[in-house]
Amino acid sequence: MAEWATVDERDVIVIGSGPAGHTAALYAARANLKPLVLKGIEAGGQLMLTTEVENYPGFPEGILGPELMEKMEKQAARFDAEMLHQAATKVDLSSRPFRVWSGDEEWGARTVIVATGASARMLNVEGERRLLGHGVSTCATCDGFFFRGKELVVVGGGDSAMEEALFLTRFADKVTVVHRRDALRASKIMQDRAFANDKIEFVWDSVVDEVLGDGQVSGVRLKNVNTEKTTDLPIGGVFVAIGHIPNTSVFEGQLEMSGGYIVVKDPTTRTSVDGVFAAGDAVDHIYRQAVTAAGMGCKAAMDAERFLEAQGH
Ligand code: NAP
Repeated sequence: MAEWATVDERDVIVIGSGPAGHTAALYAARANLKPLVLKGIEAGGQLMLTTEVENYPGFPEGILGPELMEKMEKQAARFDAEMLHQAATKVDLSSRPFRVWSGDEEWGARTVIVATGASARMLNVEGERRLLGHGVSTCATCDGFFFRGKELVVVGGGDSAMEEALFLTRFADKVTVVHRRDALRASKIMQDRAFANDKIEFVWDSVVDEVLGDGQVSGVRLKNVNTEKTTDLPIGGVFVAIGHIPNTSVFEGQLEMSGGYIVVKDPTTRTSVDGVFAAGDAVDHIYRQAVTAAGMGCKAAMDAERFLEAQGH
């Protein structure tokens, strides 16, 4: 117990700084809970990797993803949320107060809000990072609109890839799905829809070996995995839809999860541990939107506030 006296103990520690984390911080700060926000190494989350955001309400002209995150952070900081640009590297949620570490630094927490998000799985090929936001995208709902009249490639063979391909046919002239095998992983219904759409074509047994373009995507180099033969396909955009990885490894074995996503007790943000709440893409693999994540962040802060109140804090 003596050791505890030296540990900085907080009402709320928010882990993560995407729309969910910043909104949780804003609400907790306005409730006078002086939250500590561990922003993480990739502060701002997935929106930092996008360009124009046109579907976040309140910005009729659209806003750049990084600018939106900067505004959210400023708004939370205005109400005394303390922000640290470092990641939570270890947590102990087995007893209260919870303990949160970032390297050697340690804090105590009466409540924890997990908003660590998810990362789109990337191909890790030449040109992909460089052209992210300039023709390479991981979200058709976010960026499809910018590809009106273009020919596009979607990479992947799962439900996400089919969904992205179908959605993109609203804007694109042609969508080529590139899959590494000769059979799709997607559900039968999604496969049937994709096969029935005459704007969608398939290239089987192939991977994207390189994304081509100088400042903007101009094509992809495809490689047939059986013959090793490469072909350049001129296109205007590449949508990588090979799954997402929730950033939840720090909580493994401590919070109930399903497929790596944190399980919450709907319609609240309560996790399997009383006093720990979760919001955003670390929980949600269905909607994955900035606005839904922000909404969940708000709920998490309100859940934390009520929990503290019930505990007599
Ligand atoms: P997923 O089902 O894991 O599919 C990922 C796809 O990407 C697979 O086809 C996989 O190929 C391919 N892939 C993985 N790594 C790759 C790499 N490095 N290079 C090339 N291809 C790669 O992921 P998801 O499609 O995102 O779906 C995730 C979950 O959400 C699923 O349970 C899905 O049913 C659900 N979901 C449902 C809907 C819907 O019902 N409307 C929509 C979206 C998602 P292999 O097939 O060879 O493994």
